[in-house]
Amino acid sequence: MKLDNTLSKFKVSKKTGNRYQAFCPAHKDENASLSILVDEDRILLHCHAGCSIDEVMKASGITYDDLFKDSPPVKIYQYRNEDGTLNHEKLRYQTAKGKTFRQRRVDNGHIVENLDGVTRVPYNLPELVKAVKAGNPVIIVEGEKDSDTAWNLGFTATTLGGASDWRDEYKGYFKSASVILIPDKDEPGLKYSNNVRKSLENICKSLKVLILPDGKDLTDWVELGNSGTELKKLIDASPELIKNNGIPLPLMEKKLNGYQFDWNGLNLKINIERLRDEDGEIVVSQDNEPFYISGIKLLSVSHRTSIARSLNTQRKLDWDKVLNQVTTMCLNDIRKGEEVIFLDESYGSKPPEYLIKPLFVKNAANIIYADRSSAKSLLMIMFDVAMTLPWWDNDIGLDVTNERHNVLFLDWENDPYVNGYQKESFIRGIGVGYCPIPYLRCNRPLADSLDHIKAKIDEVQADVVVIDSLGMAVGEDLNLTKPAFNFFNSLRQLPVTPLIIAHTAKDFNNKRKTVYGNAFYENEARSIWEVKKTQEEGSNTLISSLFQRKAPPFSGYSQPLAWQFTFDGNTTYVEKAEPVEDERKRQSSNTELSTPQVILSILEECNVALSPSEIQEMTAPPIQANNIRQALYQLKKSNKVKVAANGKYIKI
Ligand SMILES: [Zn+2]
Repeated sequence: MKLDNTLSKFKVSKKTGNRYQAFCPAHKDENASLSILVDEDRILLHCHAGCSIDEVMKASGITYDDLFKDSPPVKIYQYRNEDGTLNHEKLRYQTAKGKTFRQRRVDNGHIVENLDGVTRVPYNLPELVKAVKAGNPVIIVEGEKDSDTAWNLGFTATTLGGASDWRDEYKGYFKSASVILIPDKDEPGLKYSNNVRKSLENICKSLKVLILPDGKDLTDWVELGNSGTELKKLIDASPELIKNNGIPLPLMEKKLNGYQFDWNGLNLKINIERLRDEDGEIVVSQDNEPFYISGIKLLSVSHRTSIARSLNTQRKLDWDKVLNQVTTMCLNDIRKGEEVIFLDESYGSKPPEYLIKPLFVKNAANIIYADRSSAKSLLMIMFDVAMTLPWWDNDIGLDVTNERHNVLFLDWENDPYVNGYQKESFIRGIGVGYCPIPYLRCNRPLADSLDHIKAKIDEVQADVVVIDSLGMAVGEDLNLTKPAFNFFNSLRQLPVTPLIIAHTAKDFNNKRKTVYGNAFYENEARSIWEVKKTQEEGSNTLISSLFQRKAPPFSGYSQPLAWQFTFDGNTTYVEKAEPVEDERKRQSSNTELSTPQVILSILEECNVALSPSEIQEMTAPPIQANNIRQALYQLKKSNKVKVAANGKYIKI
C-alpha cells in the first residue's frame, strides 16, 4: 500500500490507533515530535518543533504524491496554534484553470475537509508571538507563499490569507508589534492594507506600509533578483505611519473649528477649539470635566513641551506623547484639505435662487460695498426688514418672496442703539408697527467666535446673517490671502446665507472701485453690488444707487437699482428712485466729514503709507493740497498719524 510505504520512511516511537509519534528527520529530534496521522486516503505530518512540511518531506525523501492516494496538492501550508499544535492545513492544488485551495483539519483522529468550529489563527503564529515578545518586526503579506518568501529571506512573516481574509479578531496578536505591511500591488491589496491599518492602528507599536517598487507581490519582486538585504533597506526607508508608545491613538471627531480626541481607556478627552491657522485652544478633560485650558500652537514643539509639563503636575501621563498625537492628527486633517466633490447636476446647472431678486443669492456669499458713511447699514436694514416681514407687497420695487426669513444681524461696527434707531425710523416710515430683528453685537473676529455665533444662529433659527462689516469680521489685514481663506472657511460652517457689508478700495491706477482687500473676497462671493450715495449738501434726502459688479453664473448683470431715503424727524421714508451713476454729478460723501476725518478714513481703508498728493487724489471733490498738509500736521501732532521711513503718512 502506498501510504504504508510512506509511513515506513519514518522512525516511529509510538502508535495510537491511526496516529503515530515519530522522530522528525528535519531537526535534531530527541522527543519524537513528529505527529503522523494516517487516514483512508491521505497522510498528515506535523512537527511540533515547528519544521515545515516541506522540510520534513525533504529530509525523509518523500513527495506530496506519497502523502495522497490520488491527485496530490502542490503545496501544503500548516497553520499552527500558539503552542505549536496543528490548527489546520491549507492545501494548494494546481488545476487546468489555475490554483485552488482546500482546507483540512483533524477531528477525532480523522482528517476533515472543512474548518467548522476552528478558531482561526495567523500563519506562523508561534514565530509571530515570539517575535512580538522580543520586539522584533513582523511582516504581514497577502498569502502563505509570500509569507514563506519573506521567511526564507530571514524575516518573521505572517499572513491571514488573501486580501479579503483579514478579521478584526486577529488584531490581538499584533498588540505592541512593529508591523510592516507589504500588500500586493492591486486594488484588493490596497484595500487590504487599509483594513489592516485601521484594525491595528490602536494596537500595534508601529506600522509601516511598504509598496514594493517592482513586481506584483513580494515573491514576484524576489524572483526579479532582489535579496533580503534590499528588502531590509526598503523597510528601513519606509516611514512609520503609526507610532504608539504605550498610549493608544484616540478617536478623533471633527468639531466646529476644531477637533475632539477621546482616549476611551484613559478617561481622557482633549478638545482643540477656535482653531485658526495652526493656533487654537486646548481643553483637557477627565470624567468629562475640563481641568486644563490653554492656548496651543500646533507647530511649536517648545509650546507643546511646556503644556505637557504643566499637565503633568495635574495628572501623571506621557503628555508629550498625547500632545504629539493630537497635534499630528490635527495637522494631518487640516492639510488633507477639503474632500473632492463631483460636479454633477446638483452644481451650477440649477438657476440661482434669490432672497431678494436680483440682489442676494440664496446659500451663497453676497457682498455690498461702498465708501464710508454711505448709508450701507440703512440699506441693509431695509433689506433685513423686507425679508423678515416679509414685505412682499411693497411698492418700492423690492422683489421679495412671501417666504419669511430669519435674519440675524451681526454687528461689529455700531451698537444696538444706532441700528435700532435706524430700524425703528424705517419701519415707522413704511407704516409697520413692529418688526423685531435678532441682533448680535460682535467683538471678536468671526473665526474666533464661530461656536458662539453658530449657537445664536440655532437659537433664533436664522437662515440669513448680515455681516457688518467685513473688515472687523475678518479681524486681520484684509489684503492677506490667509485671513480671507479662513474667513470663508468659517462662513461655510454656518448654515446660513451671508450678506456682507464691505468697504471700497480705491485703485490708484484705474480708479476702478472694488471690494477693499484681497481678491479672494470678490472671488468667493456670488453676487457683488457697489453702493453709491448721492446727497445734496444740507439735504434731508439721499439716494442710494446699487450697481451690480459681479453676477451669479448664468444670470447676467442686472440693471442698477436705487432708493431715495427721506429723513423726517424720527421717521425714514423710502421710495424707488432713478440710479445716479455719474460720479461728477454727485456731491462727495466726504463733505459731511472734516478734512482730518476724510484723511483718516482714506488711510484706514488703504492701510498703506500715502503721500499728501496720493491722499488728495482720493478725495472727491478734491480737497486743496495745503488743506491736506495742514490736516496731516494736526493729525501728526495729535498722534493719529505718523510719518513712515519713505516720508509718507500712515494711520496709527
Ligand atoms: Zn522537526
